[in-house]
Amino acid sequence: MRVVSGIQPTGNLHLGNYLGAIRNWVRMQDAMPAGDQCLFFLADMHAISMPHDPAELRRATLEMAAALTACGIDPARSILFNQAQVPAHAELQWLLNGTARMGWLNRMTQWKDKAGKNREGASIALFAYPVLQAADVLLYQATHVPVGDDQKQHLELARDIAQKFNTDFGETFTLPEPIIPPAAARIMSLRDGTAKMSKSDPSDMSRINLVDDAELVMQKVKKAKTDPEPLPSEPGGLAGRAEALNLVTIYAALSDTTPEAVLAEHGGQGFGAFKPKLGELLIETLRPISTRFSELLGDQEALDAILARGAAKARELAAPTLEATYTALGLVR
Ligand code: ADP
Repeated sequence: MRVVSGIQPTGNLHLGNYLGAIRNWVRMQDAMPAGDQCLFFLADMHAISMPHDPAELRRATLEMAAALTACGIDPARSILFNQAQVPAHAELQWLLNGTARMGWLNRMTQWKDKAGKNREGASIALFAYPVLQAADVLLYQATHVPVGDDQKQHLELARDIAQKFNTDFGETFTLPEPIIPPAAARIMSLRDGTAKMSKSDPSDMSRINLVDDAELVMQKVKKAKTDPEPLPSEPGGLAGRAEALNLVTIYAALSDTTPEAVLAEHGGQGFGAFKPKLGELLIETLRPISTRFSELLGDQEALDAILARGAAKARELAAPTLEATYTALGLVR
């Protein structure tokens, strides 16, 4: 089994990123059978498909590497790297551009959504983005790729490209199977239970950042918007109470249980009693993460070393497939 998964580098990481994305990776890594490996990459090469700030991309890439490591991705067990240090991704993309069809890419809903009405002004990278994604997984002969709903179509495309290439030029690529990750918690703003917790919310009180200290976490939880009603004893009683539901969801996600179980235990309590317990749970969970995260952010050398080591392993794994692809296409090396 070989699992390959990528994530766009994003800065100002918060509880939503941790519970909604990063924690799933850590669990995938921990569930891998002995001898099998996960490859986790930071999709920095994808990030240039949209207008971006180079200094910000650099910062976000390092921050994401630090966060993943702090949250439990173990560079000794998994291969953690950024695409830009493994040129084989870009090379294979070019080689696959001969196989991918305009019609296939034109049908991608993400392309249609992101380009909007301004297709003429969109970058070629945005259009060809799914071919780079195909290269990302085919390069390592991935057997399994975790995909959310929004990425299913891109994985299908990767399989179509692999299949056509294998038919036209000989058996070269493994067709990757999707794995549907366990439903991740969707964490909402602490100020508005109907809006996603997000780094772009202008109010810092709306989110718990991975760098927040214990005091600030408790303060944010205590000031979180709620209603005057006590907690119900069953989830049905949270209907129409988005903020209350959000706090219960966070509590359940952190303690690895269900909202039902949280309410069975805490139903009947007012928020004056429940919030400090939630605050404590958050502080306990985040303490080791934020400590390690801050250490790594201040240690450029350690971060560079983690990424360099991952990239070296990735280049080694990628080399035979890249070579086979050149050869299959009749390119003289
Ligand atoms: P933001 O919304 O803060 O800009 P990103 O879009 O950069 O976050 O998200 C990076 C990853 O974190 C994505 O995989 C996304 O699904 C996850 N994520 C972001 N916010 C949340 C949230 N509030 N709840 C659950 N997952 C989230």
